[in-house]
Amino acid sequence: MPLIDGNAIAQQVLQEVKTRVAAIAPVVPHVAFVRVGEDPASVSYVNKKQKTAAEVGMKSSLQLFPETVTREELFAHLDALNADPSVHGILVQAPLPKHLPETDVFNRIAPGKDVDGFTTANIGKLVQELPEAFAACTPAGVIELLHRSGVKTAGKHAVVVGRSLIVGKPASLLLVAKGTDATVTVCHSRTADLGEITRQADILVAAIGKPRFITGDMVKEGAVVIDVGINRIPDASRKTGYRLVGDVDFDAVAPKASLITPVPGGVGPMTVAMLMKNTLRACEHAIRPPSVSFAS
Ligand code: NDP
Repeated sequence: MPLIDGNAIAQQVLQEVKTRVAAIAPVVPHVAFVRVGEDPASVSYVNKKQKTAAEVGMKSSLQLFPETVTREELFAHLDALNADPSVHGILVQAPLPKHLPETDVFNRIAPGKDVDGFTTANIGKLVQELPEAFAACTPAGVIELLHRSGVKTAGKHAVVVGRSLIVGKPASLLLVAKGTDATVTVCHSRTADLGEITRQADILVAAIGKPRFITGDMVKEGAVVIDVGINRIPDASRKTGYRLVGDVDFDAVAPKASLITPVPGGVGPMTVAMLMKNTLRACEHAIRPPSVSFAS
């Protein structure tokens, strides 16, 4: 049961980003974060992203708003970031309060600065397989993990469990795209006989949000298993009182898998690395629009 080491692969990606950041000096890629409220997971994600940006030589900034922020106030801030030529990437950290529908907020971001890849424009570009598309960071990280681990995807049956805008849907689009060429099945909460389908997967991507949901009997011998899930479960032995587990029952599934990502240390670090890569590409495009390829 060899592990896919997300930390090591993320470090490779970050090292490549760092080299390219140094090459475009004195321009410094700048990613602007926006956080609404004090959700502890959001605080920790944005902190981690800002720390990583600094490590690869990028600038980051953070605007905090209270949960009571109005749509007008938030949109005015996003409009200002869109218009600011020194800002290359914009990321609004989800979740947002109910009065701020996520798709409305994401769509306020200029597509060229949408380094999270959630705008209608970028999802359309992803469907059209345009090289300038920004793919959402977590599914982009899943594909990068597969490619850099030498997993053959062409003609393989990839089963994605989950159809969210953030993970499941873009993951299925990336898996089916030319170059990756998997045959893709997407499952969700209304899927009948889920185990029957997951057992057919050569590559199984779990993005469900339920701790250890994928059990040993749902996985074929030799499958590659990518666990996107990050779930907190109570653990009295930890100082924090919790620990993180994935959507896959690791202990039961790992002996059957030919490759598997751990949680933590699998997909998680890749999400941050792909955000840095997207920000770099946004910056490169801003300074050299006609000639630079977005795909690299
Ligand atoms: P969502 O809650 O938005 O989506 C969950 C998906 O799982 C939905 O499509 C849902 O189906 C499906 N689902 C729920 N229950 C079942 C079931 N019983 N059988 C089959 N499918 C089911 O979650 P996200 O996509 O945002 O996140 C998924 C997981 O990935 C979470 O654990 C999250 O924390 C993690 N995550 C990790 C990231 C990382 O950096 N590693 C980044 C983002 C998320 P339906 O649509 O029918 O409701």
